[in-house]
Parts: sequence; structure tokens; C-alpha cells
Amino acid sequence: MASQQNSKLPKNAALVHTFLAKHGSPASAYEILDGLRGKGISAPPTIYRALDQLLARGLAHRVESLNAFVACDHPAHDDANGFAICQDCGSVREFTDPEVVSAVNALAKAQDFDVRHVTIELAGQCAACRDSGSEVSHG
Ligand SMILES: [Zn+2]
Ligand SMILES: [Zn+2]
Repeated sequence: MASQQNSKLPKNAALVHTFLAKHGSPASAYEILDGLRGKGISAPPTIYRALDQLLARGLAHRVESLNAFVACDHPAHDDANGFAICQDCGSVREFTDPEVVSAVNALAKAQDFDVRHVTIELAGQCAACRDSGSEVSHG
């Protein structure tokens, strides 16, 4: 299934998707460009076009607060998604939660507001960083 989705992708979009999937943490357009320079991609517009194609297919998401992109690890979901962003190690974990979506929609309805796009981004510390105890201050 996933490989079929990939095979329909334009070549550059597939390259960007592979790069993001391997990268494992959010990458800016310029980091992607740097990573793919050896693959015949040398212009930012090429990267942006490829990213647009991935975003449209739900194969990647933009992490607004970081101005960066991540590969989607929940293929083919339509739900609004959220990210938990670790401020210590920079890891980002995507989550989807229908309850959050319906809560946001109910909130919007109460405000008589039409939602076009929902961005949910949590900034904090991931479990790995918390467990390693690196940034603990004063207990
Ligand atoms: Zn996703
Ligand atoms: Zn962390």
C-alpha cells in the first residue's frame, strides 16, 4: 500500500519524502535542499513544489512553529493532527486524536467560526529527555 502511494509520487517528491522519513526530526526546506543536493536537486522552488505535493497527499506535514517539515507516519489520515515538540532534543512526535478535533470544532462552533485549518503544537520535553534527567534544575 505505502509503496504504491510512493510510486505515484513525482520523483522529486519521492526523494523529499525519503529524506524526511530518514531524517526522523523536522527539517527545514534548506536542510532538505542540502540533503538532496547530490540527487540533482539544487533549487529551493523544486523543494517547495515537492513539499506541496507531499502535503497535498498527507505524506508530510508542516510544523508551523518550527517552519519545518516532517514525514507523516499516519498515512492517509484526514483528521487534524498535532505535534509534541521536544525543546531539548528537537524530536517531534505526531499524534492524531479525534477527541481533540471534535473539541476544537465545538469550540469554533461556539464562536460561530468556520475552521479551515487546525494547528496543534505542544512544546515541552519528551519522555527520553525527561528520563535521562539531563536538564533537571533544582529537583
Ligand atoms: Zn500525519
Ligand atoms: Zn527530547
